[in-house]
Amino acid sequence: MPPGDDPDLDLRRVAIERVRELAQRHDGLVPVGVLREGFAFAGTRVSYGSFYSGIFRPRQMRGPAALAVVTTPPKDRRDAPYDDGFDQATQTFTYHYRTAQQPTPQAAMAAEADNRALRAAHRLLVPLVYFHGIAPGQYTPLAPMFVVADDPVARVVRMQAALPVADLGAGGLVSDEPMRRYATREALVRLHQHRFRVDVLRAYARRCAVCSLREAALLQAAHIIEDRDPHGGAAVVNGIALCAIHHLAYDRNLMGIDPDGVVHIAHRLREEQDGPMLKTGLQSFHGAGLLQPRRRDERPDPERLEVRFERFRRAL
Ligand SMILES: [Zn+2]
Repeated sequence: MPPGDDPDLDLRRVAIERVRELAQRHDGLVPVGVLREGFAFAGTRVSYGSFYSGIFRPRQMRGPAALAVVTTPPKDRRDAPYDDGFDQATQTFTYHYRTAQQPTPQAAMAAEADNRALRAAHRLLVPLVYFHGIAPGQYTPLAPMFVVADDPVARVVRMQAALPVADLGAGGLVSDEPMRRYATREALVRLHQHRFRVDVLRAYARRCAVCSLREAALLQAAHIIEDRDPHGGAAVVNGIALCAIHHLAYDRNLMGIDPDGVVHIAHRLREEQDGPMLKTGLQSFHGAGLLQPRRRDERPDPERLEVRFERFRRAL
């Protein structure tokens, strides 16, 4: 079968559109329970896989290529360095074949079948969904992804993201290398943002560090120093969990946090008279201490706080 001649293209399109919708609805981090519901196609429910094994080809597919690959979330990221499987040199996500060492011959055969489905995705250049585990039970779906290289000796494939509009047409993969690099970089930045948010909110026990609000829908992970480099800065020590109002106040220099973790409210706001939001929500925190993560190595970096606080002072 030549590349682009995929009998499952319609199913893939539906799978990818659905997963992109879910990603949008869940701010990029989709609970595994939602993903396990699968998607509707041609009158049946199709699965995205079990999320236990890495490579998945649903039984409704007619062609040989996989639909989805999964990287499971780390069990405890605080102690395990995060590996997003991204190769800087080639600007691709790397994905390993399933190992041939399995507990039973049946399991070994299943693993080999999965590997054939993965390699077929390269041969046929079909669009996949890549589910990237960020935290236990939470996945960021990246789609469409294409397997652009296969190394059967190292037992690894390389994947690149592509553009959803251009690459789900009948012609198979059409975006060129610069377009795919761009899409891949965007995907990597998204992964880092989600990881940062999850890690920062966990470190602060899901509370605003200023007012200790716990409402998850209003909590955000603020950067102390803005993160332009997709590989740097995505560290908990460069973040503070803040509610939406305190995050915005921090970003607009209406609130500062000094290197000792003391909250400063801008002079202008302290002089103003308004309703309870201003009084209780902002003015009353002037001079208060920041709520800090329990772990010392996750507390905000004083040097970064200093740089940022200097900006707040100049803005007065
Ligand atoms: Zn707050």
